[in-house]
Amino acid sequence: MKFFHVLWVLCALSLHGYAIDREAFTVTNYDLDIRVEPEQQRLAARGKIILRNRSKSPQKNLSLQISSSLDWRSIQVDGKAVQFVSQLYTSDIDHTGALSEAIVTIPGEIPPQATVELEIGYEGVITLDAARLTRIGVPAEVARHSDWDQISKSGTAVRGVGYVAWYPIATEAANLSEGNSVFETVARWKAREAEAQLKVKFKHFGEGTPAILACNGEPGGLRSSQGTETSYEGVTECAFQPLGDAVPLFTIGKYEAIDRPAIDISYSPDHKPAAERYAIAAQLALPFVTEWFGTPKGRSEVKAEVIELSDPEAAPYESGSMLLTPLNVDSKMAQLSVVHELTHAAFYSPQPWIYEGLAHFAQAVFREREGGRDAALDFMDVHRRAVAEAEKVVSTAARQGNDAPDSLIATSVEEFYRSKAMYVWWMLRDMIGDSKLKQSLEAYRAEDDRKPAYMQHLLESQTQRDLQWFFDDWVYRDRGLPDFRIVSAHPRKMMGNSYIVTVTLENRGDAGAEVPVTLKMVDGQVIKRLEVRGKSEATIRIETTSTPLELVVNDGSVPESDRNNNVYEIELPEKSN
Ligand SMILES: [Zn+2]
Repeated sequence: MKFFHVLWVLCALSLHGYAIDREAFTVTNYDLDIRVEPEQQRLAARGKIILRNRSKSPQKNLSLQISSSLDWRSIQVDGKAVQFVSQLYTSDIDHTGALSEAIVTIPGEIPPQATVELEIGYEGVITLDAARLTRIGVPAEVARHSDWDQISKSGTAVRGVGYVAWYPIATEAANLSEGNSVFETVARWKAREAEAQLKVKFKHFGEGTPAILACNGEPGGLRSSQGTETSYEGVTECAFQPLGDAVPLFTIGKYEAIDRPAIDISYSPDHKPAAERYAIAAQLALPFVTEWFGTPKGRSEVKAEVIELSDPEAAPYESGSMLLTPLNVDSKMAQLSVVHELTHAAFYSPQPWIYEGLAHFAQAVFREREGGRDAALDFMDVHRRAVAEAEKVVSTAARQGNDAPDSLIATSVEEFYRSKAMYVWWMLRDMIGDSKLKQSLEAYRAEDDRKPAYMQHLLESQTQRDLQWFFDDWVYRDRGLPDFRIVSAHPRKMMGNSYIVTVTLENRGDAGAEVPVTLKMVDGQVIKRLEVRGKSEATIRIETTSTPLELVVNDGSVPESDRNNNVYEIELPEKSN
């Protein structure tokens, strides 16, 4: 009993001591020296960081978090060690499912807006660890190909915030079993850090032939290393000025490279044929991407870059126009992924729904060019299911609120800014046509894109068409998905075998769309498009050249919540005299 009491007092004390606002500070500057030893799976960091108090009250303590497989070694202010308590902090923002958190007590207080410079040191190992996924029930075999980050002799690839806290961060705990908590926490951190400067000087050591380190900052690309016959040492500087939306990452491998004007491919020497497949795919896709989005390395001054992941089943990961992926895919997949990266290299937007949405849209249009419209719709249907699932998670309450956290312009949910955005571009293309859309994209300037309505106005000025309702339903707000149903179809016989069929459609969802209606006849079919706003009905008359049989609303180009009520058998009137 007594023991219990003591324990309770201790807990209460520690809770009191650590009552801390973890998101009070922004790191404005990172200047790190990082030593990586793939053979030992080790990382050791020394450096300086500057933090600014962005809260409204003075702060005495601050939180610094690194992956739980790393340990804090020292924290100093003005050359003097400061007091800190290191603790394990459970959070799914890191692949290990926890962070090593240092609660630092600053001598004196940091007033609002003031900054403090810390000298820090931490080290440890970064090994394959999918604990955050396996503990929510993801099978280990699947989890390890998703959380593949590690430092290893067989291949090093380590992503930053949201995967491995290899540089210090500070966020409230995120939990994978609570909706979009991890996405939202990462998005909040990125928004806070968008203006931060991050500079890292990597030193890496190993045995045998020299390995190469790549990172996704400036100057970008690969850096060679010096070697003797038995060992090597490499130095690579990597800077983010500022961080923007990037997740800083580094890879180390004994790569060989194929350099082409629009794309670089780094691969392990025994996978040369696969790398060449990518290079050929890029060559074939280049005219298509240029026609739609301009020259890669044109508007955004960047090249597409593909770096091989050593795990052949690893889930691909992209950062800007850099793609980390296994290369053992078939040529069709290779082609789709280079289309995506080349689009990024050609067309930059600070808005994720434009930047990512267009890159996925480009894949769909490319599929259409290769295999026809049905092939494109099949490709998109995988995205549709993902969007429909994500829409179920968004509560009706959140949807009706004014701040619309899951509108395309605000969302941090990938299914929305990727998959739903892809559909938005496809629907816009169906509504205004290829050439008007291409003209609008050509007129787009990332540096002028400062207001949500910029893209709408660009499209409107090219088309003289009012798109306000469409942007309201799909971009500025999250109104969910439409659900179309054919209410009635009345055929009236005209001359010969021709009919006029009056079709009434209902949209039970809240988002409106212009949807194709296909009327199948004994000979052939007619396709018409009809605008049906949310929670309303619309009517259209369709003329046929032979006996009408069946109506189908939506060919799959509009993402819908329920596609089981889209077919309607037409009943012909009694034969009249
Ligand atoms: Zn992308």
